[in-house]
Amino acid sequence: MNESLASLLLLSFTALPLTAQNAAPQTVFGYTNFGAESKIEEKFLAVPDAALAGQHLKTLTAEPHLAASPEDRKTAEYVARKFRAAGLETEIVPYRVLLNQPKVVRVEAYNAAGHLLMSGPTPEHVANDPYQNDPRIGLPFNGSSGSGDVTGEVVYANYGRLEDYDQLAAQHIDLHGKIVLVRYGANFRGVKVYIAEQRGAAGVLIYSDPHDDGFYKGDAYPEGPWRPETAIQRGSVQYLFKYPGDPETPGVASALDLPDAARVSGFGNQPHIISIPLSYHDAAPILQAMKGQSAPQSWQGALPFRYHLGSGGVKVHLVSNQDYQRRIIWNVIGKIKGTDYPDDWVVVGNHRDAWLYGAVDPSSGTAAMLETVHGVGALIKQGWRPKRTLIFANWDAEEQGLIGSTEWVEQHASELSRAVAYFNTDVAVSGPDFSADAVPSLKQFLREITRDVPSPLGGTVYQQWRIKSAGQSESPSANASAPAEEIQVGDLGSGSDFTPFLQHLGVPSTDITSEGSYGVYHSVFDNYAWFTQNADPHFYYLQEMARVFGLEALRMADCDVLPYDYVTYANEIGAFLEAARHKAADQRLTLDFAPAQAAAARLAAAARATHEQQSAANGDLVRLNHALRQTETALLSDAGLPNRPWYKHTIYAPGEYTGYAAVVIPGVNEALDAKDQPRAAQQLVVLTQALAKAAATLEKP
Ligand SMILES: [Zn+2]
Repeated sequence: MNESLASLLLLSFTALPLTAQNAAPQTVFGYTNFGAESKIEEKFLAVPDAALAGQHLKTLTAEPHLAASPEDRKTAEYVARKFRAAGLETEIVPYRVLLNQPKVVRVEAYNAAGHLLMSGPTPEHVANDPYQNDPRIGLPFNGSSGSGDVTGEVVYANYGRLEDYDQLAAQHIDLHGKIVLVRYGANFRGVKVYIAEQRGAAGVLIYSDPHDDGFYKGDAYPEGPWRPETAIQRGSVQYLFKYPGDPETPGVASALDLPDAARVSGFGNQPHIISIPLSYHDAAPILQAMKGQSAPQSWQGALPFRYHLGSGGVKVHLVSNQDYQRRIIWNVIGKIKGTDYPDDWVVVGNHRDAWLYGAVDPSSGTAAMLETVHGVGALIKQGWRPKRTLIFANWDAEEQGLIGSTEWVEQHASELSRAVAYFNTDVAVSGPDFSADAVPSLKQFLREITRDVPSPLGGTVYQQWRIKSAGQSESPSANASAPAEEIQVGDLGSGSDFTPFLQHLGVPSTDITSEGSYGVYHSVFDNYAWFTQNADPHFYYLQEMARVFGLEALRMADCDVLPYDYVTYANEIGAFLEAARHKAADQRLTLDFAPAQAAAARLAAAARATHEQQSAANGDLVRLNHALRQTETALLSDAGLPNRPWYKHTIYAPGEYTGYAAVVIPGVNEALDAKDQPRAAQQLVVLTQALAKAAATLEKP
């Protein structure tokens, strides 16, 4: 948005919230009478302030604040002060977790004649960025990288997807002892390293190709929002699809007093090989000198020469000396106790730690959440209390592998078995386009929330979201059962702090964002200067996200009947089963899907009956709410997924070979992908049991 348009929109956006203008009484699913709550929401919506959100952002991004650094601690204290000022019962909760910080990171490349092609990493630099020269900007590195000193021939593996590695194998290109060069995009970076390690590679270089987030997409920073030549994407290569959190304490909180003897060795979620992130400035001389077969057309990036797979071309020397220490991290937790159901928690969270300044990721999330807290604080000062306990959480060490949230979830597993929702945001604002992922039971809840929040573009967030999504011809795979006219809400995979809540404990979750052209992810240029130039110059979208986030919290905390939509959930599961049945047939695997499909149909019938009870909202609401909540728990399996028991949800998991993207009915689908008939049959039994248990839970509230 340009400046003049923005100032025109200012008038419409700062007008009273839309609910104040609607005279007709609103009926809202989950409420017997929404009148009183509507007034509370009106008061709330008037408080989150764009200018104050901008001040929070400026304060939070003043210094690089990597997890466990003194600057990270300072930001924790800032957040804690704001929580306390709002009237939340606040504590800074520390954990002791294993984190690496780089001592030496070096890359040197030589051509076949032994001539030096490059040595790096080159410091990130553009003309006139005010933040790039801070002495606290350390060496670029990957969280969870191995240490070592290796030399090997380079092989180019495109995005490092399973199919990319398989294509190299089909060309008889052996990766043992090689250095794999992959580009960012298409999957989670840890997956790129995971498959490289499985195939014997000695190290991995992950670079940002200008095709994917640089000049090929648009003008690079500082002229535009896209990634400049020297910008580096740091990031974790933890095997979070095995388990996230502290590598030494899977399933257990790494509290300060946890004895060392209770920590496990073996580090089941850590790579053993070196991984180093590169800019395309540093990758280009390597790619240009590579020999061997020409890369497939779809593997070609935007650099001005032909890419090759690599045989006999370039050798690189990698040095990675990672200082692994148990370091202290700090979550900030703020609570307001519920009046009616104090043991039923609504948790609202985002992370605070950043690779460097983190203006978009994650400080836009924290700045928005602090204005949500500001609004809730105004209600508290007027004597309001939520019916359910409301908890605001500001996580640490998300970037290294969802560590702060995972440790807290593991610590509070028994209380969280009753938590009615976890609402996440991470990258709250990188531009104007609202988007969301959720469990199916909360997709309609989320759409309804956005109908009551004004958009800086005019109308409501819902209307703008709808216009934007109508313009995109999304793949039909997601939400096969959603009505054609409804906005698509995506599925939760991984890559942020909802993972432990949903996929370990079965807490119904959502994740919201407002997106735009964002090419500086995890680089030094994700800073306040970039943000105010490109993402949200007047902080109106921070205000918008504070309002959406707050309405999610308030409406869930105060509802009479939990507004979960299990009809949609059951329909989506039915569609997942049908897709899996077709996949099995294509693979000529003989599997009996009938019992699972019958269980899904039973769940759908129970969901329809329950939906009527929810709408009527009479009878024993405590029992009804308990049954509604326990239905999600019923979808967990005690044993967890094969080879990754930490992941207990039978419907959603991050894919072992995608990482960020959700794999649905993962036990079954991953067995089918592996063409493992006995495992697929066994996982169908597990799924059928979970669906039957969920149906029984809804049938007998
Ligand atoms: Zn983040």
